[in-house]
Amino acid sequence: MSHRVGVLGATGAVGQRFIRLLDDHPEFEIACLTASDASAGEPYGEAAKWRLDTPIPDEVGEITVRATDPAEIPDDVDLLFSSLPSDVAAEIEPDLCAAGYVVSSNSSNDRLADDVPLTIPEINPDHLDLIEVQRDERGWDGALVKNPNCSTITMVPTLAALTEFGLERVQVSTLQAVSGAGYSGVTSMEILDNAVPHIGGEEEKMETESRKLLGEFDGAELSQHPADVAASCNRIPTLDGHLENVFAEFADDPSPGAVREAMASAPSADLPSSPDPLIHVFGEDRPERPQPRMDRMRGDGMRIVAGGVQSTAEGVKYDCLAHNTIRGAAGASLLNGELLANEGWI
Ligand code: NAP
Repeated sequence: MSHRVGVLGATGAVGQRFIRLLDDHPEFEIACLTASDASAGEPYGEAAKWRLDTPIPDEVGEITVRATDPAEIPDDVDLLFSSLPSDVAAEIEPDLCAAGYVVSSNSSNDRLADDVPLTIPEINPDHLDLIEVQRDERGWDGALVKNPNCSTITMVPTLAALTEFGLERVQVSTLQAVSGAGYSGVTSMEILDNAVPHIGGEEEKMETESRKLLGEFDGAELSQHPADVAASCNRIPTLDGHLENVFAEFADDPSPGAVREAMASAPSADLPSSPDPLIHVFGEDRPERPQPRMDRMRGDGMRIVAGGVQSTAEGVKYDCLAHNTIRGAAGASLLNGELLANEGWI
């Protein structure tokens, strides 16, 4: 069955990825696109500063961009994907949910709210049932579902594969691509020939969102995973690859081989855009190790890659990598949309 979907913030870095991923999607067809008032009324092909290396699909380029306002969204839209700036999303998403729309959102507002599912379909699809709690508490006919921050979603699938060993402590240092800051987020003068230490707010997101994602939902309440997570986040001059160096400690003492095997056998989800395998585990030779240049990535950008697993005095260390605007943003929301459709929420 095909569902009519809209994209909020469709002209931005993440919005463009939505357009690309929704082109020829087996379950979703684009029914409306929104952006700021400055873009409203223009054909999408003129409003978007298109930066992807494939052309705007012809029929999408001709769609007239709408203002991001509940009154502008057609009634027959089943699902809205949101890639709005977080302050804008915090205002408009609740209004859309109250008006009956189901919203699968990238924006960071409300990710930690007790009644908002923060989901990665391959990791915690059961958290989607928090929608029942949300609807009871907020009186909404619609629903709000979030995907995690791009740096969090790069690491958490690898950790989820390792919780069986009794995950106790995680330290992670990231090297993050410029697309994570949005189309005009980092100036060229700031990032060229440079690495920018500390990305404001990012470290807290990794630390808190990871524990929520790995927590348990008992049907009424969600508990946080007890592991300590400490993050250090840095910006580097790559376009889309987030590389992360993870140091993890466990109650059991898994060998590097056991860690590699657990990650390689992490289950995929039975959804159109879920990669199988979920995690590509690299060989241990240096040229094979994950590198943030996307030509070293495998698959279509939805897969996590990991490798370089080694023992440390306290546990293991490894590297993981994901495509920022696909698995880290639009692809993550798309997967949540597919999960919402698959589970009958739309
Ligand atoms: P972006 O490139 O700056 O795009 C922002 C989009 O929102 C554009 O379509 C813009 O429309 C629209 N917009 C801006 N102000 C608006 C307003 N007042 N009312 C309605 N629409 C407005 O940002 P982005 O990188 O795509 O990020 C979008 C969201 O996704 C953010 O919340 C970000 O934190 C989150 N996110 C981003 C990434 C990433 O990799 N970039 C990863 C995870 C999460 P105009 O073109 O008309 O200005």
